Amino acid sequence: MQNRRLLKISAVLALAAVLLTGCGIIKEETNETDILMGTVFSVKYTTEGAGKGQKLWNELEQTGTNLDDKILSWRSEEAEIAKINASAGSEEGYPVSEELEKYLAECIEVSERTGGAFDITLGSLTQLWNIDEKALVGEGNIPSDEEIAKALDCSGYKKIRLEDHRIYLPEGLGLDMGAVGKGIYLQKAKDILEDKALQATVSAGGSILLCREDGVFWRVGIVDPFNPSQVYGTIKGRGNAYISTSGDYERFFFADGEKYHHILDSKTGFPADSGIKSVTIVMNTDYEMNGLISDALSTAVFVLGEELGVLHAKRYGAEVLIIRNDGSYYATDKMQSMLEID
Ligand code: AMP
Ligand code: MG
Repeated sequence: MQNRRLLKISAVLALAAVLLTGCGIIKEETNETDILMGTVFSVKYTTEGAGKGQKLWNELEQTGTNLDDKILSWRSEEAEIAKINASAGSEEGYPVSEELEKYLAECIEVSERTGGAFDITLGSLTQLWNIDEKALVGEGNIPSDEEIAKALDCSGYKKIRLEDHRIYLPEGLGLDMGAVGKGIYLQKAKDILEDKALQATVSAGGSILLCREDGVFWRVGIVDPFNPSQVYGTIKGRGNAYISTSGDYERFFFADGEKYHHILDSKTGFPADSGIKSVTIVMNTDYEMNGLISDALSTAVFVLGEELGVLHAKRYGAEVLIIRNDGSYYATDKMQSMLEID
């Protein structure tokens, strides 16, 4: 993350439009883009009162940087997750902040409910595959069966314990919050924007937060997983929502002509191969953890496949769109009513 500042300078596109309403209240429209948490973030919202839009953006940026650097990253030494991973094997465990404890408890519950299809304890496996770096080059090696078996041996949500504000990890186990970081950020963004901005949209990689006044519509394009610069279709909805998409086009590399992507199946230790190209989950914002859950579910459904995945997602009240390997799609009933396919 050392070159984040450089990325920032090149990626920040600021555009603030100032409008004066009939009763003299200044309305500002803010559009910003930045690289945060290793992914492209963009926001769009309206604020009332001069200078408020920029102040809010500063707060949103700082919140993303702090969340990654101080809590969720396994790469940044200062982050709680990195410190917890370094404590693996210790009998005393490691103390967790109140905030992280809430996220971990929810993650463990989703792991239990999805039978480990979503599992934050796959750190050794994700580091072994190291797909983030191989994706930058486009090619790389496949770990050996022995290496995969060893990484799986020290993975598994059942092996960790969260008790009395402490977490206990066995030797060799590493936490990886990569599948839920953006969803967690969106929960925080919602709290920041709720009373201060109108018609806000925050997009963080494959996860989106929409905050709209009652009855106001939004439309969101769903990436075509076969051609990611194109849109497969559009989802139209109202009010507040979290939308999370996981797909095999996001991070991948090739080895011996085969594609290896970043969503791993804890049963095989290999990239999930369930007949799915991408999964989109839509949830309301009623429960404070729905940002995290929608992000976790898009990953879990991708691993579980259509039948089981939809069953689990529906239990959370989530709407699901699955684009299959053959290009056809499945949508839950309400999702179907929100969909316009191009
Ligand atoms: P997402 O793009 O939200 O589906 O998250 C994928 C990221 O989560 C990967 O880059 C890994 O860091 C991590 N990950 C991969 N497979 C899993 C899994 N089965 N459960 C939880 N996290 C995973
Ligand atoms: Mg996810």
